[in-house]
Amino acid sequence: MASDRRTWDVVVVGAGPAGASAARVAAEAGCRVLLLERATIPRYKTCGGGLIGCAQAFLPDGLAVEVRDEIEAVTFGLGGRRTRTLDSRVGVRCRMVFRDELDAALTRVAAEAGATVRDGTAVTRIEDGEGVVTLRTAAGDLLGARAVVGADGSASRVGRHVGVRCEQVDLALEVEVPVSTSTSSQWRGRMLMEWGPLPGSFGWVFPKGDICTAGVVAAKGQGDATKTYLREFLQRHRFDHLRPLHDTGHLTRCRHPDSPLARHRTLVAGDAAGLGDPWSREGISFALRSGTWAGEAAARVARAEDAPGLAHAREGYVTAVRSTLEPEMRASRRIMDVFTRRPGLFHTALTGVPSVWRGVDSYLGGRTTIPELVGTPAARVALKAIDFLR
Ligand SMILES: Cc1cc2nc3c(=O)[nH]c(=O)nc-3n(C[C@H](O)[C@H](O)[C@H](O)COP(=O)(O)OP(=O)(O)OC[C@H]3O[C@@H](n4cnc5c(N)ncnc54)[C@H](O)[C@@H]3O)c2cc1C
Repeated sequence: MASDRRTWDVVVVGAGPAGASAARVAAEAGCRVLLLERATIPRYKTCGGGLIGCAQAFLPDGLAVEVRDEIEAVTFGLGGRRTRTLDSRVGVRCRMVFRDELDAALTRVAAEAGATVRDGTAVTRIEDGEGVVTLRTAAGDLLGARAVVGADGSASRVGRHVGVRCEQVDLALEVEVPVSTSTSSQWRGRMLMEWGPLPGSFGWVFPKGDICTAGVVAAKGQGDATKTYLREFLQRHRFDHLRPLHDTGHLTRCRHPDSPLARHRTLVAGDAAGLGDPWSREGISFALRSGTWAGEAAARVARAEDAPGLAHAREGYVTAVRSTLEPEMRASRRIMDVFTRRPGLFHTALTGVPSVWRGVDSYLGGRTTIPELVGTPAARVALKAIDFLR
């Protein structure tokens, strides 16, 4: 069994948006950082690749990633009926990228900041020790770290070590299909969000030039019904006859509000921490933000010499997540509740009340947050009225 005898300041597990951000920020803070990734970079990730304004704001300056489309309009539908296309009026628009390209670019920037990147290296075990955390890789190597950031996605090994608990688990099924020139121009600058037949479900089409990503998401535990839903959704939008480049499924998980974010010298970020929007399942902005804060906190954890210093460093991260991302998840759960119970009413409000669409458009552009949206007096009255109809 080989052992890496040096103890790293920070080891980051997983090179998605959360891990690459954490590694970059910890390296910029002067730490010796090792970023471990199970797959070979660039790697495919089941994801729509939609970057809302908030995610764009958290990308490193000048990141070299190709934007495949910029969204100028959103088509909303209710199971293929009552379809309405609404134009975006905000300056910053939702942007479409390929996740392999985005994540590889973020990892490159982390390496340029000084992080050592080792791909093809899966972490299989993690153990707390005195002043150090020991990680074992699938190849049997042992690595020591003064601080660890677990950013290993929704089936996180590190998350299990920390004790992350989730209260919402969904199954997302997605295809990435090459499309003809006419289909490509039909979707250019426009994405589709269509509310589905299963409670809390929806389907999407995200355009990326000569490729479209189309998929559906629904609560876990109804696999056959979700597959049928995907088949019907692809038929309705005429993607069913095309041979997909990728045809994959992935579980998305949202944390329980009381679930831990740290243990000893280990912090969890992004999907590994169950951070994501419970309604839209948007997760890239959550990963970029929590990864950035985890990287900052990990640098402080690595330097902590005593128990109070360590607790203080950990607490900084926990407070950042609890004060910013938790309220967003709480507000989104509120929307999810209404959407699940009354999808028709939800659709009518979104497509028939101009101020509701303006608010959502503003959120997509990164100008407002979901807590701000649901906190307006009009939204509060509307939500209370819907509660009354329960
Ligand atoms: C179908 C679908 C569509 C989505 N569409 C969107 C969208 O359009 N916009 C949006 O904002 N969000 C979207 N999301 C959510 C988004 O994909 C995630 O929230 C985001 O990828 C989280 O980033 P992350 O860095 O936390 O984890 P990931 O991107 O999952 O990265 C985790 C990394 O860790 C690696 N890893 C795992 N285990 C180990 C291990 N043991 N050792 C080493 N490495 C390991 C993995 O290989 C992976 O590279 C979608 C999700 C799904 C399922």
